[in-house]
Amino acid sequence: MDFDDSAEEVALRAEARAWLDEHATRLDPDSLDEMRTYRAHTEEEDEALVEEARRWQRTKAEAGWAAPTWPAELGGRGLSPLLAGVFANEEAAYDVAGRMFSVGTDMVGPTLIEWGTDEQRSWYLPRILRADDIWCQLFSEPGAGSDLAGLSTRAIEDGDEWIITGQKVWTSGAHYSDLGILLARTDPDVPKHRGITAIAVPMRSPGVDVRPLRQIDGAIHFNEVFLDEVRVPVANTIGPVGHGWGVAMTMLTNERASIGGGGMYSFDQLAQLARAMGRDTDPVIRQRLADMYTRDEILRYLGYRVRTAAAAGRAPGPESSVMKLAVSSRYETGGDLMLEIEGAAGTLVHDDAPYGGRFQDLFMSQWAPRIGGGTDQVQRNIIGERVLGLPGDIRADKGVPFRDLPRS
Ligand SMILES: Cc1cc2nc3c(=O)[nH]c(=O)nc-3n(C[C@H](O)[C@H](O)[C@H](O)COP(=O)(O)OP(=O)(O)OC[C@H]3O[C@@H](n4cnc5c(N)ncnc54)[C@H](O)[C@@H]3O)c2cc1C
Repeated sequence: MDFDDSAEEVALRAEARAWLDEHATRLDPDSLDEMRTYRAHTEEEDEALVEEARRWQRTKAEAGWAAPTWPAELGGRGLSPLLAGVFANEEAAYDVAGRMFSVGTDMVGPTLIEWGTDEQRSWYLPRILRADDIWCQLFSEPGAGSDLAGLSTRAIEDGDEWIITGQKVWTSGAHYSDLGILLARTDPDVPKHRGITAIAVPMRSPGVDVRPLRQIDGAIHFNEVFLDEVRVPVANTIGPVGHGWGVAMTMLTNERASIGGGGMYSFDQLAQLARAMGRDTDPVIRQRLADMYTRDEILRYLGYRVRTAAAAGRAPGPESSVMKLAVSSRYETGGDLMLEIEGAAGTLVHDDAPYGGRFQDLFMSQWAPRIGGGTDQVQRNIIGERVLGLPGDIRADKGVPFRDLPRS
């Protein structure tokens, strides 16, 4: 492939930069004080961050940048994922809360475009675009994460309503979301991948109980969601009843295709930290930084490959698992390295630590990309089976009705 920007990319980059310069403040790439981690530790910080992200998304919506891959008639720009990645990379250089509502714009929106009814599209899409509705993803359960199809939250049809009972967990942003896209078991008499239905659940319905979970670094991010006989109109069903697995695959494929925005920190910022802490002449630290730089270059080329495939209309294949694994291993290496650079000061936290403890926060947040969106081990299974051609996992539950599966 051609690694230089095409004429189209050059023009889009210039347009994006001009618009961003007019509407936002560019971060100083050499300043460690200007790094943004988008982590809230108190409810007030969390609310302020959500409001800031909402304002920014509305600004973007007015110029068609809120969901650039959506068709122009739906408020997007009809851009390929490759070109949308150009905007996301430019946006990451500015002081904006840019990617907080990507569940709505990058995952639910494309899923509704593919599976929704005309009424659902015309009601929900403009509201997603302007962040009038914030969405969360109600997929994982205490007993169904890697084995998502084993989910047991059930929805029973009662006239023109679903009655939903069950528990979801690790739901990012559920505490500030208006709607959740939920997977429920609607037919336990068929094998587990069938008999699942996707339903849009208003998060403030009676019977929905959202309980925030505190993370190891004290940040507020995800939640447990309990559903106790929650009544939702059958009209909120997304896609055909019993085809929720197909809807979920569309959503997860779009999640992977949205890879390419700015990362949590750059190589330059790590090198900068080494200089600031006086560790840049230490040969071991220099070696580790070189390793980090190499990983970033590999990631850059993998990113081109994934986005080129998407631009050519090919669904992200196993290369997105290679990409996902490379991303998480990058954060593992970088997380360990930043505290090693800080030396003894690395054991401090919050305001006692250098730079207000942001590197300690980043160190601890390395586990998010290593688990969310499919764990490292699950990515390795996919690569083993679909890239290396190794024998598949033994799947004893294949063809067995969900009702007859042993469950804890
Ligand atoms: C930051 C973050 C945000 C998230 N946001 C959301 C969200 O918004 N909505 C949502 O629905 N979910 C969300 N999740 C949940 C996430 O999708 C799950 O945590 C993930 O899929 C793993 O499931 P689990 O936690 O149940 O672990 P399990 O599936 O129980 O896995 C436990 C361990 O066993 C290993 N394992 C499991 N199966 C296999 C296998 N076949 N072969 C080898 N090893 C295996 C795993 O790799 C892991 O190490 C989020 C998670 C994180 C970390």
